[in-house]
Amino acid sequence: MNTKFRKIGVLTSGGDAPGMNACVRAVTRTALAHGIEVVGILGGYSGLLNNNMKPLGHNDVSNIVNRGSTFLYSDRCLEFKTEEGMQKAVQCCKDNGIDGIVCIGGDGTFRGATDLSNRGIPTIGLTGSIDNDITASDYTIGFDTAMNTVCEMIDRLRDTCESHARCNVVEVMGRDCGEIALRTGIACGAVAVAIPELPFDEAAAIAKIKELKAGGKRNMIVIVSEGLGKYSEELAKKIDAETGIETKFARLAHVVRGGNPTLRDRLTAAEMGTMAVKLMLEGKSNLVVVERNGELVSCDINYSHIVDRMYKNKLKEGDLDPYSEEEIASMKELCAYRKSEIERLYKIAADLA
Ligand code: ADP
Repeated sequence: MNTKFRKIGVLTSGGDAPGMNACVRAVTRTALAHGIEVVGILGGYSGLLNNNMKPLGHNDVSNIVNRGSTFLYSDRCLEFKTEEGMQKAVQCCKDNGIDGIVCIGGDGTFRGATDLSNRGIPTIGLTGSIDNDITASDYTIGFDTAMNTVCEMIDRLRDTCESHARCNVVEVMGRDCGEIALRTGIACGAVAVAIPELPFDEAAAIAKIKELKAGGKRNMIVIVSEGLGKYSEELAKKIDAETGIETKFARLAHVVRGGNPTLRDRLTAAEMGTMAVKLMLEGKSNLVVVERNGELVSCDINYSHIVDRMYKNKLKEGDLDPYSEEEIASMKELCAYRKSEIERLYKIAADLA
């Protein structure tokens, strides 16, 4: 038995995602199998500020592998970002004998994890986000379920568009990442897709809709990513006015966050959860488990933040200082790959419209 880790905490934080439960279960059962106690920290980081947690035994994570939501609840906890809040959290870990924490969430959650590990509480981050918005990872837990939900909703809208010869502009979640919009755009046969990563040629989209209408097409689905703000509503009005096709607007919003996780999300959750505990047992900390080319690997949380900033052209002075030329080259390569994938998929979406 490992002597350093007698008890670990697990929490879910930030935007919830289907598969978080399966991930908590995997963390819990793997840890228990190694003789380590587990506590579930409730409500993300706020559970560390309010000492709100419960021990998790084998049966406490029964019957959740297939459930959406997160039974540990999630929260956006601002107090945790303050030095005072951070000290409270560290003290809470000490008082409860928590030797390390697995933090399931997105980018914000990983920042919190880094702050904790810098103050002596080892942390491992796992990517739980419906948006697939962690640049360092090809995949985030919840993405597949969210896309399947979007597909189901849009298939329904298409049915009714076909009956009435309508257009439906559908706004889907994704924060500043267009992955959900782009991939569901292809899968649902959208006539146009607008995402934050690439310029949207509105005139071309409207011309395409007119052309398709002239060719006899009755249903038109346009998908807009949430990252473009209120543009989706404006676009619906413009299409209606300029094409003469009755155009409805739908915002799928939080409906996409719920529902039972797909097999893909359950499997990834199981594998990532298992790996997090193994890394912790190896004495590792401040790492995030990511998927690259179909394999799970780990990378430094700071590396994950910096590569994300690089991808979004938001690098700050000095960000790259801790990294070798080789590491910087690999970051650039990853960003170029992400961009090229978006462009490749965007072209497929356009070609198939
Ligand atoms: P996500 O993890 O999905 O990106 P948020 O950005 O809301 O979601 O972050 C989740 C939580 O992580 C926040 O409510 C806060 O408690 C913590 N957090 C976010 N950013 C920071 C930060 N810069 N420093 C410390 N903690 C943070």
